[in-house]
Order: sequence, then C-alpha cells, then structure tokens
Amino acid sequence: MLAKRNFYINGAWVAPALARDLNVIDPSTEEPCAVISLGDQADTDAAVAAAKAALPAWAATPPAERARLVAAILDQYNAREQEFAEAISMEMGAPIDFALSDQATCLPWHTNNFLKAFEHIEWVRPLGPHAPGAAIAMEPIGVVGLITPWNWPVNQIALKAIPAMLAGCTCVLKPSEESPLNAMLFAEFCHDAGIPAGVFNLVNGDGPGVGTQLSTHPDVEMISFTGSTRAGRAISKAAAETLKRVALELGGKGANLVFADADEMAVERSVRRMMENTGQSCNAPSRMLVERSVYDQTVTKAVAVANSLTVGPANQPGPHIGPVVNKRQWDQIQGYIQKGIDEGARLACGGPGLPDGFNRGFYVKPTIFADVTPGMTIEQEEIFGPVLSIIPFEDEAEAIRIANDTPYGLTNYVQTGDPARANRLSRQLRSGMVEMNGKPRGAGSPFGGVKQSGRAREGGIWGLEEFLEAKAISGYDFTLKDAAE
Ligand code: NAD
Repeated sequence: MLAKRNFYINGAWVAPALARDLNVIDPSTEEPCAVISLGDQADTDAAVAAAKAALPAWAATPPAERARLVAAILDQYNAREQEFAEAISMEMGAPIDFALSDQATCLPWHTNNFLKAFEHIEWVRPLGPHAPGAAIAMEPIGVVGLITPWNWPVNQIALKAIPAMLAGCTCVLKPSEESPLNAMLFAEFCHDAGIPAGVFNLVNGDGPGVGTQLSTHPDVEMISFTGSTRAGRAISKAAAETLKRVALELGGKGANLVFADADEMAVERSVRRMMENTGQSCNAPSRMLVERSVYDQTVTKAVAVANSLTVGPANQPGPHIGPVVNKRQWDQIQGYIQKGIDEGARLACGGPGLPDGFNRGFYVKPTIFADVTPGMTIEQEEIFGPVLSIIPFEDEAEAIRIANDTPYGLTNYVQTGDPARANRLSRQLRSGMVEMNGKPRGAGSPFGGVKQSGRAREGGIWGLEEFLEAKAISGYDFTLKDAAE
C-alpha cells in the first residue's frame, strides 16, 4: 500500500501537523490502495501562509515567464502519463484505457487551451478614446483555495490550478480525499517544472476540515470549487463572512432531446455518453426526452446499447465501464434505482444489486428506466451513476418545458436533423452549455452552468478571468513601458 501522508507546502513535502490517517479505497476491489493524512488547521494555515508569502513575487513575474513555467508542467506530464493514468484508475475506478485516453489527457488539453487564451490578455489597456489616461489593469485576485471532486479529478485540477497560476495567483489545492493520488502527482509535476515554492500548495483533507478551513480563511481571496450542490451551498455560507469570491461548478441533470429526425447514431451515442465514466459526470445526459412517434423504438435501441456494455475492474484494459467510486455512492445509486421502481417508472434493463459475476467492488448494472414522468425523483435528482431515465414528449414546446423544469442547468443535448430547430433550442434551453448532435464543445469554450449547477465559467479566456480582477486607473501614462505588458 502506498504511504502518501505528506503535504506539499512551500515547495517541499512536509509531515502533517497531527497524524490523522485515511485509507484510499480501490473501488474495484474494496481494498485500501494508499494511506494519506487528513490535514488540520495548522496545515491549512501553513499552506495559506506560504501562498501569501509567494504572491507578490509571482504576481510580479512577467506573464511570459509564468506561461513558460506552467507549460513546463506538460513536460513532466508527458514523461509520467502512464503513472498518472494508473493513479486515477486505481483510486476512482476509471478503466485504465479510459483513464489514459480521456481522464489524464484533460491536463494537456486544458493547459494548452489556457496557454493559447493567455496570449491574448491585455494586462493594462486603455479604457477607450473617450477617457484619455484611463486604464484598465487586470490583476490576480490573490491567494486562492481550490477544492476539487473525484469524478474527473485531473480535469478539475487543470481547470483551476493552471489558470490560477497563469493569472499570477498562488494557490492551495484540497483535492477530493477519494482521489488524492493524481493530485499529489500533479504537485510533483509543478515542483519538477520549477514552479517557485509557495505558488502551488497541496493539503489533503475532508470537507468539514481543510475544505471549511480554506473557505473561512481570511487570507484566501477566492474559493474555486467543483463538487456537489450541497457542498457548494456550505462553501458559499462559510465564505460569506470574509466576502471572498466563490466560483462554483456543481451538479447537473442534463436533458437530451431526441427528435424523430435525429441521425441513426443518436441513440447509441447518447446512451454511451450517459454511461461513460460509470455515469459519474456532472454533465451526463441523464434524462433522455424522446419524441412520442419514435419512443418505443428508441427505448428498444437504448436498452440494446446498455445491455451491450460490459462492467469490469479498473485495471483491466478495454472499453468496459468500471465501478463507482465508493460504497456511499453505490448505496445512493441503489436507493435511486429502488425509488424509480417504487414511483412507477418501468425498469427496462439493469436494476438493483451487483452485476452478475461480481461479489465485491462497487459495480452497478447499466440501468434504464422508461416511462419516467416529470417530477419523479429519478427525473429531478442527480443520481451520479449509470442510470438513464427515458421520458416521452409530444412536441417541441413540451420538450423544452420538461428540460427546463429542474433545479439544475449545466448541459443540455439535442439530437435533430433540422438545423433551424437546433438553433432555436440552443437558445431556449436554460443551461450553461448545449451540445448538438454529438458535436463536442470547441477548445477553449467556457464550462459552467446556471441555477443550482453553479455559475462559474471554467476554460479558455473566461476561466482565466475568474482569477483576475479589473482595476480602473485614471491618469495612466501609456507612453511609459509597463513591466506587466
Ligand atoms: P462533494 O461535494 O462531496 O466533494 C467535492 C469536494 O468538496 C471534495 O474535495 C470534498 O472534500 C469537498 N467538500 C465537501 N464538503 C465540503 C464543505 N462543506 N466545505 C468545503 N469542501 C467540501 O462532491 P463529490 O462527491 O466529490 O463530486 C460529485 C459532485 O460533483 C456531483 O454532484 C457532480 O455533479 C459535481 N461535479 C460538478 C462538475 C461541474 O463542473 N459542474 C464537475 C464534476 C463534478
């Protein structure tokens, strides 16, 4: 078992102030695979103090030099990609091939997109010809606390730590206690890339501990959080006293509107997208809304796709889906499956219990409920597992109504061969993102939601601006060269 008890503070791996061990559980086997420490107030304070001390020099480092150092993280990634993917796979259950192709690669993908957007930031610019000498300066917000989940662990770290450092902020990362190993490797990448001491710090811990200590800390100017809506609410309240900026990326209950004129791959693509990562994606298309005229055939097709999926351990190569992350998550998903049955939805495939052939590991049968009606618990709440709800609709207006009638608003999906309808729906669906006919969002586009999905925008220029503040200056002499330009 890996011993990973130390924290990365001020450029060094240091022992925790108090010994508080936590086993990291491999969800494929239910066996501990590593031991970490849960941090205490003294650890959080030390990390925040290091970040605060490093801030003036890092903020004053020319942007091109910051970009060079951040880009050097990718050299470390390239040298250790396999190890990185194996850590993700072992700790959160993503099958190794998927961990390598989709999970680990989030780091180079986002970093390269941020580096491109970064080149276009005008650090000090004139306000406009109507106001001579008026300048707008973009400045780092300061010390930031980054709190991340386990489901796409590297994705979230890349979406926060990379833009924070590029912007000139210094940071303290508290990764999910379920998936700390990839985050600790990321800290090693930062160290070996030459990121100066104190710019990036990592303290492991849980929500009530380090998470709350960061959210309430007077020297932390901003919390960037991804996780559950429950924790997002708690963080907002905790952060209120010190009036820090809070950027939240929370849960989702994506609707996927399938029209009769959708292309023939639409159903298969949609079911696969739902089941990917064992359904543990905030933007999963977990409600399939199907036009009545193609409803029965769509349910049949969706069930065939779900039944063709195989389930297996994370270390096994191949395109199967892995276990869910932990027992709590497994129990919660089982509870939702039972609720679907109890509330009268039709179990079309999958269902309660472990898949055949398994007696341990947090495996879930790919499950589809048909005849789900608006307002059922499985239609409203985020299940965060491989469970799809299929709902019929009569016309476009009803589809929009059902899609928008949820507390969430992260990603909605549309499958239609009618471009005018696609455009219309793209504006009427209430969410931060709309994906048409399986087309991925463009590189550098913002990721984020509305309503209880949180309102942060991560990625590209928007994701950089989250960590910057615009300062309005009058009487600025633009004829002098500014070091930050
Ligand atoms: P979680 O909220 O339980 O935990 C996320 C992180 O927050 C962990 O690091 C945890 O230790 C910490 N935390 C928990 N309670 C806290 C508190 N009171 N104060 C401070 N920190 C606290 O979520 P999870 O189970 O790790 O992740 C799953 C959730 O994340 C799902 O709801 C999913 O939809 C959401 N998610 C959202 C996005 C997005 O971008 N919108 C992306 C991925 C996951």
